[in-house]
Amino acid sequence: MLRVRFAPSPTGFLHVGSARTFIFNWLYARRNGGTVVLRLDDTDVERNTDASVNSIFEGLRWLDLGWDEEYKQSERLALHRQIADAIFQKGLAYRDFTPAHTTAGQSKDTEKSGANQTWLFNPGMRELSRAESDRRAAAGESFALRFRVPRGASEPVRFNDAVYGEQIKSADDIEDFALLRSDGMPTYHLASCADDIDLRISHIIRGQDHLSNTYKHVLIFEGAAAIPPQFAHLPLLVAPDGSKLSKRRHGPVVSVTTYRDAGFLPEAFINFLCLLGWSPKDDRENMTRQELVDVFSLEGINRANAVINFKEPAATPDETFDPKALWLNAEHIRGLSVDALSARLLPVVHAAGFSITPERMQAITPLIRERIKLLRDVLTAADFFFVDQLPPYDPAELIPQKGDAAMALKVLTRAKEVLAQTEFKHDPLDQALRTAAQELGIKAGQMFQPIRVAVCGRKNAPPLFETLQVLGRETTLARIDQAAAKLH
Ligand code: GLU
Repeated sequence: MLRVRFAPSPTGFLHVGSARTFIFNWLYARRNGGTVVLRLDDTDVERNTDASVNSIFEGLRWLDLGWDEEYKQSERLALHRQIADAIFQKGLAYRDFTPAHTTAGQSKDTEKSGANQTWLFNPGMRELSRAESDRRAAAGESFALRFRVPRGASEPVRFNDAVYGEQIKSADDIEDFALLRSDGMPTYHLASCADDIDLRISHIIRGQDHLSNTYKHVLIFEGAAAIPPQFAHLPLLVAPDGSKLSKRRHGPVVSVTTYRDAGFLPEAFINFLCLLGWSPKDDRENMTRQELVDVFSLEGINRANAVINFKEPAATPDETFDPKALWLNAEHIRGLSVDALSARLLPVVHAAGFSITPERMQAITPLIRERIKLLRDVLTAADFFFVDQLPPYDPAELIPQKGDAAMALKVLTRAKEVLAQTEFKHDPLDQALRTAAQELGIKAGQMFQPIRVAVCGRKNAPPLFETLQVLGRETTLARIDQAAAKLH
């Protein structure tokens, strides 16, 4: 039975790195018919916030992958203590009555003082007799419960990581880490392993920053007479300068909701994250969710840190994002049917304050779908469909190539007459305007440009006849009038 878990701590927002961890777990489970467990690691009461829980769920729901089972660590404290007790009863853990603030290993000074002075345990506590330890506990003295890491053992601690390979560390280099704090709360190491055991997790897929914790976890699993799961650690996500991605340093680019709000499709964002540290055998890049499920494997994960290529500082809003992310999003946008894309664009348009109908959005969608990379681009690519009044533009734009203001005016005047009588469909519009150009003795392009600028407010716009058809006769004629007035 393959079971994976995603175990975010609700101390912030959903980080892109956490999202990738979730996605890799999900893909691995779906690929192999396994179960996805979502576990909130919420035992750190001082740092947990409801806002953070909400923001994690918000991000996960947007990804729209779903999960099969859901747990909160804070509701499982009895289990954690039970497993700690089982380890203690075997003599593999001991009570440490040293007041927490005097524990050298937890003070910054010792960390700084170098590897050869690494703190391993507090003096006098490992050796306390069980009777003495029981007596002091019964007298109400507070204690932390520490794992009794073997000293001078002939065998090192080892595990095989699916990504980083064989990992070996001498137990003599591992401190007697806490299982329970002196307030009785489980540490991350204990809570995580106890839950992984109880929830029968078969594969732990998580960030590389936990690789060094894993030795302790192996000791806990073995201490609790459980077989350690298969571990797979994922390479770090880093900024272009190689630094670890952090909100404080890199801002919104590390938060999943930034991608959502900019108009990434969740499936494109998932596709992008998958390519950070993993690649399929055939090096394909543009992949649907199902294609990812079909080919995902732990073997495809590489060890090197994965770079998200954003510009710092970004000169344009698009530079906040990796060009590959934008490219993939554009590809996924083009892969959607008109109906599906239109349904995704409509809320973006509404959120910007324009009230247009679904039918109108469906008519606009094919005209812009090749022209947008992000959903929010609809607001710039199709703005002239949404507003009653075009924003001001330079009347010089109305002047056709190799023409002058007089020619522009002639075009607009003739266009107005012709368009008043033409059916507003592609072919009749095409024919009528080409004929008009001939009659005026100018090129078709010289005819189209003033009309395009008159109705769109700029030259760079979707195909003309379809645009006119969607705008309709009334708006088209009114805008041509306004354009002509600018030329007088
Ligand atoms: N709560 C831990 C984190 O967010 C989970 C680590 C793990 O997967 O064991 O980093």
